[in-house]
Amino acid sequence: MINKQPLFRNIARLAGGAILLGLVSIIVATAAGVAQHGEIPGFMTGNLFTEKETPPEEQSSVPVSADMPKPPRAEKVVYLTFDDGPDPAVTPLVLQTLQQHAVPATFFVTGTQVEAHPELLRQIHAAGHAIGNHSYNHRYHELYRSPAAYLAQMERCNALIAAIIGVAPGISRAPGGTTGSFTADFWSSLEQQGFKDIGWNISSGDASSAKATQIAGNVIAQAEKNKFLWRNAIVLMHDGKGHAETAAALPAIIEYFQKQGFEFRAVDHSTPPAW
Ligand SMILES: [Zn+2]
Repeated sequence: MINKQPLFRNIARLAGGAILLGLVSIIVATAAGVAQHGEIPGFMTGNLFTEKETPPEEQSSVPVSADMPKPPRAEKVVYLTFDDGPDPAVTPLVLQTLQQHAVPATFFVTGTQVEAHPELLRQIHAAGHAIGNHSYNHRYHELYRSPAAYLAQMERCNALIAAIIGVAPGISRAPGGTTGSFTADFWSSLEQQGFKDIGWNISSGDASSAKATQIAGNVIAQAEKNKFLWRNAIVLMHDGKGHAETAAALPAIIEYFQKQGFEFRAVDHSTPPAW
């Protein structure tokens, strides 16, 4: 049978169908994200800082989600991450330095610290940084007893965060790292709950006894030695109690990556695994 419809009408119908399909996928993806965590993965973290540096033709007014195309990653990408906070002595110093250098970071907070300092969590969020879940109490012997025990702590911490800032993280970092603590069951149950665990590949070695020059030196030495990581450098630091030297080391760390031409990103569901 001969199709008598003019060509442009067929094209219009095809385009209409594609737009409709696109809309349906966005709605489904959004609903799934909200159902799991009350947020669209990547939306809470935003890209306030990276968007400023993205060429206009690559910008989009649509919130970034895990299921939608992302702006292309730069050749060199660094994620600055801070665990164990927020802490009233350290976190404000870290936030100040990040603001001065106009770079985003990611804070993996614990539930107990969030309970004690909700205003600091609000400040981190208001400044546009990403917030991740670092368990409720960080006690290894309780956390790693079973996948259920681990998840219970994750959910408890997420509920606290959501009560304060209105959104719950979909990203997490296992206290002490997953190596030696996570069995396959931990990974699968974490994934089922929609969490993405993010490790690190550059350690600042910022134990409380380390001095700022040493901490910055550790980060720079590892980055220089392992240039294969430059595509996805994930730096582990701490803004918990007693880590003032980390805050003091931060300007030198940021300036090193800036000098090398890195793009600074906040962790979200599109962040590749550390290794
Ligand atoms: Zn920790």
